[in-house]
Amino acid sequence: MIPVAKPWLGEAEAAAASRVIQSGWVTQGPEVLAFEREFAAYVGAPHACAVSNCTTALHLALLAAGTGPGDEVIVPTHSFIATANAVRHCGAVPVFVDVRPGDVNLDPALLPAAVTPKTKAILAVHQIGQPCDLQAILAFARPRGLPVIEDAACAIGSEIEREGRWEKIGRPHADAACFSFHPRKLVTTGDGGMITTAKPDWDRKFRLWRQHGMSVPDSVRHGAAQVVFEDYVEVGYNYRLTDVQAAMGREQLKRLPAMVARRREQAVRYAELLAGIPGLGVPREPAGARWNWQSYAVTLPAGADQRKVMQTLLDAGVATRRGVMCAHREPAYAGVPWRVAPGQALRRSEEARDRMIILPLYYDLGAEAQRAVARALSLALTAAR
Ligand SMILES: *Cc1c(COP(=O)(O)O)cnc(C)c1O
Repeated sequence: MIPVAKPWLGEAEAAAASRVIQSGWVTQGPEVLAFEREFAAYVGAPHACAVSNCTTALHLALLAAGTGPGDEVIVPTHSFIATANAVRHCGAVPVFVDVRPGDVNLDPALLPAAVTPKTKAILAVHQIGQPCDLQAILAFARPRGLPVIEDAACAIGSEIEREGRWEKIGRPHADAACFSFHPRKLVTTGDGGMITTAKPDWDRKFRLWRQHGMSVPDSVRHGAAQVVFEDYVEVGYNYRLTDVQAAMGREQLKRLPAMVARRREQAVRYAELLAGIPGLGVPREPAGARWNWQSYAVTLPAGADQRKVMQTLLDAGVATRRGVMCAHREPAYAGVPWRVAPGQALRRSEEARDRMIILPLYYDLGAEAQRAVARALSLALTAAR
């Protein structure tokens, strides 16, 4: 059986977790601080704040942008449901926009029609790790004073070219970038998240809100020689990452360059192996972007039954997943407010959902296994015809 994904974990992570457990300090503390510093250095960000997952990261970033009940946030529908949910967690209304033709990311050309006086922010997703067109999104948002938040859940290790230099996603290029450490992403801590920003005031808010709005972190109080009384200055949340998770994350960061390099080789190999399959759409790296290939999603030929193809593959020992979902099509969004700009449809997102499938991709996936996947897909498509 070839799984669709598999985290790359080993003795180093186990030893790091064990070291923290034996230290006696297991919640947010020195390991979280060290992980934040190392993460910030890796992406080239002035500030990095660790949180419990990417959904809570998005929630805090939207709050920092001032998002509240009745506001609108422009967001692609073609994303994991957490993207739209974070908007709802603020009490705001998602305004869904479509993706670019043949792409998984938001179409910047649709922004002018989607914006209203109620728009509070744009949530720009780097879907399946493929950098979206941030330059175009920022060119639209900046003159209007609209904050842009990057949903970089899948994009650790991806890069964009700016003025002839390669820069990591998370630098951050917009107002804040939010990452996930769920096992389906590259770096994992089981669950976990990180928010990078260049704004010191936003970083201060994130740190306050993630720990109940508490004026003094408990790690500081613990080490103080004097008695410290803390205040709870705002109604905050418990969005902490633990030191056990952070210690794992620090080891995962060391593996990250090798993870990205391997995935980039595997993507080239898939492209070669799949090139001959009639009607199959193979993903291509956009110009000015280096993709970490968090997921390798192909587009099935028109008319091929997605479920049947996936079942035939599963019967042949190859696990796949349906392509990225559309939030507006999920039952959760039947009863809550959302909008689409007048005259716009979400057809390209719906078509992408219905025609894309995600193929196996993980560190240990060898060339022989990739050939087996390609063969099985070719046979499954022949059978579906
Ligand atoms: C995985 C993912 C999230 C949610 O991340 P969690 O850490 O599981 O909360 C949000 N947005 C996108 C695009 C994702 O892929």
